[in-house]
Amino acid sequence: MPERTFVVEGARFTAPAAAPGLHIVATPIGNLGDITLRALRTLAGVDAVAAEDTRHTGRLLAHFEIEAHLLRYDEHGAAAQRPKILARLEAGGSVALVSDAGTPLISDPGYRLVGEARDAGHAVHVVPGPSAPVAALSVSGLPTDAFLFAGFLPPKQGARRTRIGELAAVPATLVFFEAPHRLGETLADLAAELGARHGAVARELTKRFETVERGTLDALAAQFAQGEVKGEIVILVGPPGRAAAMDEGEVDALLAAALARLPASAAAADVAKATGLNRRDLYRRALELKG
Ligand code: SAM
Repeated sequence: MPERTFVVEGARFTAPAAAPGLHIVATPIGNLGDITLRALRTLAGVDAVAAEDTRHTGRLLAHFEIEAHLLRYDEHGAAAQRPKILARLEAGGSVALVSDAGTPLISDPGYRLVGEARDAGHAVHVVPGPSAPVAALSVSGLPTDAFLFAGFLPPKQGARRTRIGELAAVPATLVFFEAPHRLGETLADLAAELGARHGAVARELTKRFETVERGTLDALAAQFAQGEVKGEIVILVGPPGRAAAMDEGEVDALLAAALARLPASAAAADVAKATGLNRRDLYRRALELKG
C-alpha cells in the first residue's frame, strides 16, 4: 500500500484514506498552483487513480510527490477499462478519475463510467476545480448570465458551418474549444454565419503566455487569418442581438426603414450591426424588398 502523503512547497502532508466510490477530480489547466487541497488529499488518499494518459498524470503526481496506483481510462480503451474500475468499486475500493487537464468529462472521457457507477449504486464524489470553458468565460468580458458550451466544432468546413448555423439563435454566449491550426478558418466561419457579434479568443489561460483578445467576429477573423498561432484556445461568441427573438416581418420592417435612407448594402450592414443577423442574408433580402 503506497504512503498516503503529498508535498506542497516542501511541506509533507498526510491524506486520510478516501471514501469508497468514484472521485471525479479536476486538475490544473496549466498552472500547477491551481490544484486544490481536496484534489491533493483525494489523489493521495484513493486506492487507484484512473487517468486518460498515465504518463502525463504521473508527472502531475510526481510534482506533489504522490505515490499512486495508476490505471488507464482513455477514449479508445474505455469499454474494456470500465469493468475493471467498476469491479474495484464493487469491492469497496476508491478510485479517482482525472483527465490530462481541467475537469474530467468536459470534452474528456468519463460520462459512461459515471453513469454506470451510479446505476450500480456506487458513490460518485466530485472534487471540483479548474475548467477551461469557465475560466475563459470569466475573463472574456462577454455576458455570463447564460452560456452554451459547445465543445469542439467539426473539423470539416461544411459540417462546421452547419453546426454554427444550428447554434446561431441560441440566446447565450457560445463557448468553443479549438485547435490552434484551425483558429483562423473557424473564426472566419463564425463571422460569416453569425454576423456582427462580439467575441473573444482566450489562449494559454493560467500559463506564461496567457492572452485574451476581444473584438467583433470579423475583426478577430482578420486578426487570426494569418500567421501561426500556438497554444490551447477557447473561442467565445457573445449572444445574438435582438435577432433571435425577431420574426421575418420585423426584420423586413427594419430593412425597409434602413432602405429609405441608405443603399441596399449599407442598409444590410446597418441592420446586421443592430441585430446580429447575417449581413449577406440581409443584403439578399434588401434586394428582394427593393425589387
Ligand atoms: N476537460 C478540460 C477542461 O475542463 O478544461 C478540457 C479538455 S479538452 C480535450 C482540451 C481543450 O481545452 C484544449 O484543446 C483547449 O481548447 C482547451 N484548453 C485546455 N487548457 C486550456 C488553457 N490553459 N487555455 C485555453 N484553453 C485551454
